[in-house]
Amino acid sequence: MTEETLKDRLRQRIDAHGPITVADYMATCLGDPEHGYYTTRDPFGAQGDFTTAPEVSQMFGELVGAFLLQAYERMGSPARFNLVELGPGRGTLMADILRMAKLRPAFIEAARLTLVEMSPTLRKAQAKTLIKTPLSPHFADRFDEIGEGPLLLVANEFFDALPIHQFVKTDEGWREQMIGLDEQNELTFGIGNAQLQETDLPPVARKAAKGSLLETQPAANAIAEAIGARLKEHGGTALFVDYGYLRTAVGDTLQALFKHTHDDVLARPGEADLTAHVNFEALAAATAKGGAYPFPPLEQGEFLLRLGLLERAGALGAGKSHLDQEKIRDDVERLAAPDQMGQLFKVLAVSSSADPLVPFDPIAGQTG
Ligand code: SAH
Repeated sequence: MTEETLKDRLRQRIDAHGPITVADYMATCLGDPEHGYYTTRDPFGAQGDFTTAPEVSQMFGELVGAFLLQAYERMGSPARFNLVELGPGRGTLMADILRMAKLRPAFIEAARLTLVEMSPTLRKAQAKTLIKTPLSPHFADRFDEIGEGPLLLVANEFFDALPIHQFVKTDEGWREQMIGLDEQNELTFGIGNAQLQETDLPPVARKAAKGSLLETQPAANAIAEAIGARLKEHGGTALFVDYGYLRTAVGDTLQALFKHTHDDVLARPGEADLTAHVNFEALAAATAKGGAYPFPPLEQGEFLLRLGLLERAGALGAGKSHLDQEKIRDDVERLAAPDQMGQLFKVLAVSSSADPLVPFDPIAGQTG
């Protein structure tokens, strides 16, 4: 008997209950307890499907660590606080953050570390990576489970993995794009009955041509709003890094990555990574709705350079072999060059206070 695949399961489900939303498809492909992409594997690195900034170089996490140390002091160096990471992958980013944070023993002593991770496979990898650090992690399935107290939070390439909905402009308004079955019983896109209400439409959608596609990210926005509310109530700062766009726009950003190559999004459910670009305008608005202050986002390259990427690279390379120095230079390029990760990735900081927050520009209307 051949083993049942996630594609078989999706076919049966659609056959029995009708087409599913793109959000449903994403959530199932990534998070299905038995066959989900993240639940069943470690997808990172050369052997995997994609490489993230912390996996490129330790400099990324160290600079994020330097940012968090400043944010800690900015909120008055509390004796206890929650240090939280959403979707920590292999735990590399947190390990690099903590190496930098060891420079301030008070930070380490005050921190209670919680990793929000749905994948049992990756939880194991994270625990293993963090063995050599001074903090042992608690695990949570959701952000809501984090206890009371001030918060410092980081999320790198987390929001892009959360389910989005897609709507298509038709003669009868913006109707939801669905995934059904064609005559050959293959997965295919189609148009459903659900509609975006006129009042929920961003201004850009009004002028869009027929056939245009608009994405919404209610799952990401709900978490961002909860974080905003938490920051308002208990104080602190959150940092979100992801690929995405700064202003709401129309367009299809759903993509599948399989072994470092773009793949048909319907071809390999559960075997390929599925992501969508993050709408930072919507994400920032959600944190503000929760009651926090979003700072004007920076491109990743600018964020890292302002935090001292070049100086850090110089220090790291000092006394090293020619080959090592070349590798460090390549890593700097990879993280910060506009044609690599530098421009596509955006960094949004959100805080309980509108006071100046290094290295971000002041919030419009606030003097800094
Ligand atoms: N931050 C890491 C990994 C990014 S990949 C890095 O930069 O290398 C996305 C991560 O988010 C994985 O750890 C994945 O298992 C986790 N994840 C995705 N959706 C999630 C969800 N709904 N709840 C909790 N974790 C999730």
